[in-house]
Amino acid sequence: MLKFVKLNQETPEKRKISDRKGDFHEIYNEYIIEKAKDQSSRCSQCGVPFCQVHCPLHNNIPDWLKLTAEGRLKEAYEISQSTNNMPEVCGRICPQDRLCEGNCVIEQSGHGTVTIGSIEKYITDTAWEKNWVKPLKVEKELIESIGIIGAGPAGLACAEELRRFGYKVTVYDRYDRPGGLLIYGIPNFKLEKFVVERRTNILKESGIKFVQNFEVGKDKTLDELREMHDAILIATGVYKAREIEIPGSELKNIFPAMDFLTASNRKGLGDKVDLFDNGTLDANNKDIVVIGGGDTAMDCVRTAVRQKAKSVKCLYRRDKANMPGSAREVLNAEEEGVEFIWLSSPKKFIGNSKVESIEVNKMELGSPDSSGRKKPVIKDGAEFKLNADLVIRSLGFDPENLPKLFKCESLAISKWGTLKIDLNTMSTNLKGVFAAGDIVRGASLVVWAIKDGRDAAVQIRKFLIEKDKLKNKKTVAA
Ligand SMILES: Cc1cc2nc3c(=O)[nH]c(=O)nc-3n(C[C@H](O)[C@H](O)[C@H](O)COP(=O)(O)OP(=O)(O)OC[C@H]3O[C@@H](n4cnc5c(N)ncnc54)[C@H](O)[C@@H]3O)c2cc1C
Ligand code: SF4
Repeated sequence: MLKFVKLNQETPEKRKISDRKGDFHEIYNEYIIEKAKDQSSRCSQCGVPFCQVHCPLHNNIPDWLKLTAEGRLKEAYEISQSTNNMPEVCGRICPQDRLCEGNCVIEQSGHGTVTIGSIEKYITDTAWEKNWVKPLKVEKELIESIGIIGAGPAGLACAEELRRFGYKVTVYDRYDRPGGLLIYGIPNFKLEKFVVERRTNILKESGIKFVQNFEVGKDKTLDELREMHDAILIATGVYKAREIEIPGSELKNIFPAMDFLTASNRKGLGDKVDLFDNGTLDANNKDIVVIGGGDTAMDCVRTAVRQKAKSVKCLYRRDKANMPGSAREVLNAEEEGVEFIWLSSPKKFIGNSKVESIEVNKMELGSPDSSGRKKPVIKDGAEFKLNADLVIRSLGFDPENLPKLFKCESLAISKWGTLKIDLNTMSTNLKGVFAAGDIVRGASLVVWAIKDGRDAAVQIRKFLIEKDKLKNKKTVAA
């Protein structure tokens, strides 16, 4: 260990730009074993590992790096999977620069972080390859059943943790495949779908029941589900796209990001998608303008490149330094030929029935707002026009109105529309109903959803044990 002094940081190679633009495969090549061992051996084995502190799951990073450096990959995998239900997913798509790697001590001292994410991915991909990843073996089947609404990372992590104890777990989802945004939001070039599918398959083999194409609120109300189960977890994510209220917003061919990304992901999975097949949601040979500067916007521009758009532009109202998207993804997009127009904001969409162009305001950064970030203000007389055949709005997501949707007006929500929970118990205001993931936090990250799902499982178990004790007491008293 401690080889950072003489061994430079090496991330897995990126594929050639011309190759990766031509397909939807992931853009990083895998480490080879010797490289993974070398890179792990750069870890300084800190007494207080800041990487671990800043990983939402508090993964035992120094331990699995040491084991990898020693070639003990199976043990490294055992430790890594003990705190994370999807290490191969997090290794691929966590914004490590803001989490574990950004806080690595050797990064702070100017030597370049240990490439934690890539090694986590390497360890778990190896585990899958070598057949070390097995379905859960439940020792004792319990009678209590839990209904989980939402098969995204929060719901899946909670389902796995509860099933581990022998509970009967049923996961309901309105989509036709489990995975949530891992399947229908995040594009293949960041996370190939087989990675998600093999995970959900192993959960099925572990005895978790999946009910797809089942929308709570339509197919059953929340109260009806509560009657069917001893506890419920709501993990429905956030899906309401923010609008742009400017003239011309009603024109055709202006779509929210999720419509565009879901269509592309579905095509990748071999589905029939009418709006893609008739050309509407296909960027091929079109001038594409994506509005927004977050990671979803980066996924849209890079999807458009791969669909062979004529041009791909990204409008963002602040400058590059103030962009919310991860620097890594902006760089990938720039390398792939996306044109960023910083300090710009749409003023008007122009066209006859369909959008044809956009009038754009030039912005400048004014004084800081309440969040401390400099507020973008319009620069007078500096408007310009851009051609656009397809406009994609990527301004973030808000929660849907769950009390209304679930026909349960008493379900408490915050002023942002997210579900209100007691942070100590993960419980909503309804007895036996818990919540986790984006529907509690607002749009966040996969690793936080997994953390919430695991925490919710602990709390649901406590709730069920207490309930059982109470029932036994009553029976004895009777
Ligand atoms: C385009 C995009 C790219 C992203 N990229 C990254 C990234 O690179 N790294 C990262 O860490 N995070 C990323 N995120 C964020 C991440 O995907 C989310 O934070 C995470 O998926 C939240 O997990 P969840 O389980 O709370 O919700 P979701 O993954 O949204 O899953 C919720 C599930 O609930 C189901 N559902 C909703 N309502 C109902 C209902 N009424 N009845 C039944 N089922 C219902 C949905 O169908 C869905 O399957 C990205 C998000 C988007 C949109
Ligand atoms: S889960 Fe994410 S933050 Fe934690 S070690 Fe893995 S890549 Fe880093």
